Amino acid sequence: MNDPDAAVIAPSPRPTTHREEAAFNDLPILALVETDRYCDQCSHNLLSQAIRRDERTGVLLVRCPECGRLHPAAGTATAVRPWLHRFAVILLLLWFATIGFAVTMVGMAQVGLTIAIMEELTTSTRIVNITGTSTTVVRTQHRTPVAQTRDHFWMVLSTRVLLGAVGFIAMTASVIAFHHWRRWAQLILATGPPIVVASLLWIGFAYDQPGLMAWSIRPIAGSAAALIVGGLIAVLVGRMVARFMVIALVPPRMRWPLAFLWIADGKTLSGMAA
Ligand SMILES: [Zn+2]
Repeated sequence: MNDPDAAVIAPSPRPTTHREEAAFNDLPILALVETDRYCDQCSHNLLSQAIRRDERTGVLLVRCPECGRLHPAAGTATAVRPWLHRFAVILLLLWFATIGFAVTMVGMAQVGLTIAIMEELTTSTRIVNITGTSTTVVRTQHRTPVAQTRDHFWMVLSTRVLLGAVGFIAMTASVIAFHHWRRWAQLILATGPPIVVASLLWIGFAYDQPGLMAWSIRPIAGSAAALIVGGLIAVLVGRMVARFMVIALVPPRMRWPLAFLWIADGKTLSGMAA
C-alpha cells in the first residue's frame, strides 16, 4: 500500500456546498479522467472530468458535474471490473484497427488520385464522327504528356480540392482523437506522411517511366500539397469546428464527455465550472 491515493477517505455523501465547489474548481487541473467511470450517486459518466488534488488531504479527487459528489480519482474495484477490462481491451484493438484503416485510406487516396491525374494528363481524347449520326470518343493513353485541355484543368483542380478535404477530415479526426498531442506533433502528422508517400510514389514512377521523372514531380507534389494544406487548416481550426458542431448538435447535458475539446485548448465548456 505505497500508493497514497489508494487509502482514500470515503467521499462525503452530502452534496458539497457552493463555496466548497467553487474552491475545488479553483484548484489546478492535474489530469482528466481517461476511462469510463460512473458517479456513485447519479451514474453520470465522469469521463474527461478534471482531477484535482484536495488541499487538506492531498487526495486526488474528481467532482461529478451533475450532482457535485466527490470521488477518489484512484479506481475502486467492483465486480463488473474484469468485464469492463475485457471490453476495454476489445475497444482498444478496434481503436487501433480504426487508426490503421484511416491512415491506409488517406494514403490510398493520395496514391490513387495522383496516379489518376498522371494517367489523365497523358491521355488524349478525340471525338470521331464515324457516321453522320453517331460519334465515338476515342481515348488514347500516351507515353508522354498530352496538350492540356480545359477538362484536364478541372480534373486536376477537383482532385486537389478532394485531397484537401481528405486532409482536413483526417487531421480534424486526429486533433480530436489525439487531443493530448502538442501542436507540433499534429503538424508533423499533417505534413510527414504525405511527403513520404509522395517521395515513394515518385521513386516508383521514376523506375517505371524514367523519361517522365521530371514531369511527374508537379502532379505528385501537387497532390501532396493539397493533402497537406487541408491537414494544416484542420490542425489550426479542426477542434474549433468540432466545438461549434458540439454546441450546435449536442444538448447541453450530453456535452460533458466532449469537454476535452475545450480543455485541450485551455478553454472551458460553458457551465463546466458551475
Ligand atoms: Zn453524480
